[in-house]
Amino acid sequence: MRVLILGGTSEANLLAASAAGAGLDAIYSYAGRTQVPVNQPLPTRIGGFGGADGLADAIRHEGFTHVVDATHPFATEISRNAVTACAATATPLVALERQPWIKAPGDIWIEVADIASAVTALPEEPARVFLAIGRQHIAPFAARPQHAYTLRFIDAAGRPLPLPDANLIVSRGPFTLAGELDMMRARRIERIVARNSGGAGARAKIDAARELGLPVVMIKRPELPDRLRMESVAEVMHWLGHRACLGA
Ligand code: NAP
Repeated sequence: MRVLILGGTSEANLLAASAAGAGLDAIYSYAGRTQVPVNQPLPTRIGGFGGADGLADAIRHEGFTHVVDATHPFATEISRNAVTACAATATPLVALERQPWIKAPGDIWIEVADIASAVTALPEEPARVFLAIGRQHIAPFAARPQHAYTLRFIDAAGRPLPLPDANLIVSRGPFTLAGELDMMRARRIERIVARNSGGAGARAKIDAARELGLPVVMIKRPELPDRLRMESVAEVMHWLGHRACLGA
């Protein structure tokens, strides 16, 4: 057995710890988006495979017998490629996928399908907006230059930000409710744009928005091809024929 873990999430990191603890022959794959990725207790590779065909080639040449897609729920390209490549190579695939957040009483959510709809869901009058989305998705918000944007990235922006009034926080989660409340109060945030990523690590901003009575423009999960899905590391370890255990 040789397992390819498509990673870049806290769930993938937990799976890597469990797989290493169980002595699994597994490789952790990063896209290479961040300058300093989290160290893994498994051998790591960094960078794209070159589409579905490249991923299928890697599966064949590197002898992977199982693929776990533990990427972010909004990382649709790699997830689609994994479905195609695993079908082409008859390799078992499972997605380790967290549940989306469910709207709770007190939440003021404006649910939209994608980034373009999130841009148009912002008000015409100037507002202070916390844009809690990835760096690669902020450019469309230049169409609403009247807003004062707060952004938060893991690394300092390499290129100038494409928004005229943008303030950058450089920080890596997980974030706490108290920290998010402080940040939103200090910056007088009036509205939040977020993707329904789910999971505990990014949830604090949603809880803080509810507590402060702030509207959240919530981008819904994208559609993905049908595949085997599991929500916990323990289930995935069981699927791999091992009991979950915490590793190094
Ligand atoms: P994406 O749009 O689905 O992927 C774009 C391309 O990046 C893929 O086609 C693939 O290149 C490469 N890639 C993505 N994940 C990879 C991985 N784990 N290992 C090797 N190559 C990978 O993905 P994205 O939204 O840019 O996210 C990139 C990575 O960041 C993902 O691994 C994801 O788990 C992590 N991440 C994403 C988000 C998010 O908000 N999207 C949040 C937290 C973490 P090739 O086609 O050349 O193989």
